[in-house]
Amino acid sequence: MSKVKVENPFHPARLKPKRKGKKPPKLLAVVHQSGCTGCEICIAGCPVDSIELVSGPDPKNPTFQQTVEIDLMRCIGCQNCSQDCPWETITMYQHDDAFIAWGNETLDSELYIEMNELQKIDPSLFEKKEEEPAE
Ligand code: SF4
Ligand code: SF4
Repeated sequence: MSKVKVENPFHPARLKPKRKGKKPPKLLAVVHQSGCTGCEICIAGCPVDSIELVSGPDPKNPTFQQTVEIDLMRCIGCQNCSQDCPWETITMYQHDDAFIAWGNETLDSELYIEMNELQKIDPSLFEKKEEEPAE
């Protein structure tokens, strides 16, 4: 059974400014995490700060085997990161295709987490609200 991923409401990226404009960008960038070395070079060139670090597997040493992910809801498709990445591990996709590619190429995300993980972090989000009594 596939695991349902939801937006992580506690990720600090949620506090960053949202993308401006009504039209979505034609292109969006996706990281092929299996080829990402976590070198962070791409982060510096992003004009909207939409590239986020993903910690490595050891919580005691989170920078070891770290990768990055791109917040598709904030990327403006400028292509800087795909040109800057020395390992050619960021690809630009047509807007709709990017979401499919994200699903295929993202090994680990902190922007999106499994529903049961979110439930562990904050069970109150899943508690049934008391129904208001009818007047
Ligand atoms: S395409 Fe531009 S806006 Fe999107 S993640 Fe890359 S550098 Fe940032
Ligand atoms: S520049 Fe490329 S290899 Fe380096 S962190 Fe960004 S995506 Fe990963």
